[in-house]
Amino acid sequence: MVCPHMATKPSGKKKVSATKLSAPPSQRFECRDCPARCCRLPWSIRFSGEEAQRYLSDPWVRERAGREGAQVIERGVLPMREKDRRLECVFLDEDMLCSLQKRFGHSYIPRACQAFPFGFIHDEENAVVAQLSRLCPSIRDNYGEPVDKQLKDKLRQKGEPERMSKAMATLKGMILSQPQYIRVARHWEEQLAAGASPAAVLARLYDWMYAFEGALPHGSERAADAAVQAALERAHASEVEPLSPRPSPSFHARVLFAYLLGNLCYPSRVRQAHRVEQAPARLQALRSFGNKAAWMLGRGTVDMLFVPRPFKLQRVRAVERFLSAEEGALVSEYLRLVVQRRNIFIQPRHLLAGVLDLSLATVVISRFARCRAAAEERTRVTPDDVREGIGVAELLLLSHANVSEQGRLMKNLRWLLLTNRERFRHVLATEA
Ligand code: SF4
Repeated sequence: MVCPHMATKPSGKKKVSATKLSAPPSQRFECRDCPARCCRLPWSIRFSGEEAQRYLSDPWVRERAGREGAQVIERGVLPMREKDRRLECVFLDEDMLCSLQKRFGHSYIPRACQAFPFGFIHDEENAVVAQLSRLCPSIRDNYGEPVDKQLKDKLRQKGEPERMSKAMATLKGMILSQPQYIRVARHWEEQLAAGASPAAVLARLYDWMYAFEGALPHGSERAADAAVQAALERAHASEVEPLSPRPSPSFHARVLFAYLLGNLCYPSRVRQAHRVEQAPARLQALRSFGNKAAWMLGRGTVDMLFVPRPFKLQRVRAVERFLSAEEGALVSEYLRLVVQRRNIFIQPRHLLAGVLDLSLATVVISRFARCRAAAEERTRVTPDDVREGIGVAELLLLSHANVSEQGRLMKNLRWLLLTNRERFRHVLATEA
């Protein structure tokens, strides 16, 4: 087994309280020879000021990171360099093991690395729910030992669990308390479990949310429980308009693909602020612009992360859509898990943004899976394509990406889709 940062003995001395810990039933995990995927991704691995000071005060760490790397560490991020057209942590050795871990032990490395792929959130009943990232191949493939026995150690490594927001807002600014918005979320869970295409379910949930919010009394800042109950009943009785597939991606779907999937393509994926040994900026900026243009036009060849070889974007059209077929059930099951693990409710924001997150994830999973099939000259996706697409959604949207850190373009796009039903439906219909 090769693991960049596997614990050899329990670490840390923090006492873990006797809180109920939960994880998806039958889930397994063991770090394996993947190799070191989590150390070689286009993301910012953050750590605390205390951790940054510890690293900066060690001469060996400073020398290994170099002058540029030390400046990145000062900002609380692990520095990365480009290798084999990917970013990788400057502390990763040739043998795909973490040099910090080998030299100083597991408890020395950033908490985020110690605990990956585990995160934790207090749910509404104050149980601590494990967030297991499907970006990790072991979680994706359910490989290894039952996670139940690992939860306490991982929680100790990770530190204080995140908390759900105490309230969420409607688009008109009414505040819904946690118990109130959880009632809404339970309806989302039920709908996603009903077995229909996830695109159709999400189009319905978007309308249902508008009906629900529209049925809440106007003029008050907070909703009474009875008013929420009445609005739920009105929303259940509202009419449903079926979603018709679009023959080609809508303009806003293209923007979404260019922004998210385009950033997984080379060289866009290595253009990160925490990268050391930067390549000539103008050349890479130009090539990165070329990536985005290719996605906007749906033409040209791209080299995308987790896709085995470069492929022509035109070929994706020949790959059948699958959200209404058997493979679509994998997406629905994943979306339901996302709602249940509650991490889309950490930031106080518009409740409808949760439905939007699930919708964008669905479209991205579908497009990614079809790209992977196109690269292998297949016309049908496999369950493996879909599972890898789910990992991409974790990375870009639902687990590791921080919405508050997304650029202005993505923020504007999200707001537009939250407030414009037709454009929202066109994006979903692109993969329906
Ligand atoms: S991605 Fe998962 S299996 Fe791979 S090195 Fe990281 S924790 Fe281990």
